[in-house]
Amino acid sequence: MSPSFSSRMHRGLLASTALLLAPLGCATSSQAGAARDEAALRTDEPPRVKPKWGLVIHGGAGVISRENLTPEREAAMRAALTQALQAGHAVLAKGGRSMDAVTAAIRVMEDSPYFNAGKGAVFNHDGVNELDAAVMDGKTRMAGAVAGVHHIQNPIDLARLVMEKSPHVMMVGDGAEAFAQSQGMPLVDAKYFYTEERWQGLQRALEQEKAKGAPPAEQGQPSTQGLSPAQPSAPGQPPAQGATPGQTVTPAQPVTPAQPPASAQPPGQPATPAQPSSPSQLPTQGATPTTPTQPVTPAQPQPGSSLTPGVDPITGDHKFGTVGAVALDMEGNLAAGTSTGGMTNKRFGRVGDAPIIGAGTYADERCAVSATGHGEFFIRYTVARDICARVEYQDLPLPEAASYVINDVLVKAGGEGGVIAMDRQGHVAMPFNSSGMYRGYISEDGTPTVAIFQQP
Ligand code: ASP
Repeated sequence: MSPSFSSRMHRGLLASTALLLAPLGCATSSQAGAARDEAALRTDEPPRVKPKWGLVIHGGAGVISRENLTPEREAAMRAALTQALQAGHAVLAKGGRSMDAVTAAIRVMEDSPYFNAGKGAVFNHDGVNELDAAVMDGKTRMAGAVAGVHHIQNPIDLARLVMEKSPHVMMVGDGAEAFAQSQGMPLVDAKYFYTEERWQGLQRALEQEKAKGAPPAEQGQPSTQGLSPAQPSAPGQPPAQGATPGQTVTPAQPVTPAQPPASAQPPGQPATPAQPSSPSQLPTQGATPTTPTQPVTPAQPQPGSSLTPGVDPITGDHKFGTVGAVALDMEGNLAAGTSTGGMTNKRFGRVGDAPIIGAGTYADERCAVSATGHGEFFIRYTVARDICARVEYQDLPLPEAASYVINDVLVKAGGEGGVIAMDRQGHVAMPFNSSGMYRGYISEDGTPTVAIFQQP
């Protein structure tokens, strides 16, 4: 096992659970303000306030170290999170629906280059941005999701269109984009999603893969889509520039299906299994009554996986970066939404948990959840629904249910990540088992609070 992973998991265990925030200061770039916000969003404190309505957001969980985050970038990310909270708050404060607040907040984060969603989406193995998103309305249990789209500036809006304007729950790839066009949603050139930082992240992942001796993976064929593809024509080459970022492009012809990779992906090497903490490292603080006392069983190697997608080979960091929001409105209705570029170096066609209802996104009349982390685990453990099911069937307080699933069930499985969640009473939970999660909260008083790390 990787000791660094173990210690990361340990740090995560110490962090975890839920909280509800007292209105402790506003998000500010000043150090004092940031520290106050970190303290307000500490994950080991019990709820103190029960708001009638509010919004919680995340901008991804992972190994986020203070050393690797420059003050400028930290300030910019806190500002973007604050802006997202304020966008959602503006909706809720005038009596708007939780679904509208969720999509308003997510749209802000999708438009930011700092988060792995929309504009800042990571590249897949073939140098393509493939975006996933989902929304769910707790009151009606209507849901909409899209996966593997390449030309949608705000995938969260398309997920909502699928929910509201189609008889379906999930649409993928070209079909989803054709549906977008049929609804009057413009497609953007794939170059819109190019950012140098994400491109370099992919290059590092590819180099690491090569160094580890993984079988040379196929490079996908350049897309034949009517819009400019984002992938390079040769491996390692950045995509040709030319489109103005943000420019919307109406294709002259219908989007034709993307070409799949030329050959099937050879099986990769077995992954180094993620190891959870030893029993002595189990948290003593924030543990819930449902946390079993038996030792955490080491995770097993994940069959069929090769290199862990999403890991930065230079820093060793997992940077998941998905964005999400959950909200409770004045009417007492909950909603959840999640949007992501997936994981760096993911294989062509891979779909994560974000658009899978019950895995990365879920809302019903009593509980709403949005997740971020290593999606394969969140899918197999149906994390979002599991949390809400524990609230429903076991009558557990939401913070306990969420903490148990993230810090016990997932840790045992070796799955890294976190969730944000709200219940109908306004309780908030934001457990994560990694060293950090970009997160924020706002309620009636309109004071945005954002945090990144576990400890102030
Ligand atoms: N959960 C996302 C996925 O697996 C990744 C993330 O949270 O950033 O696609």
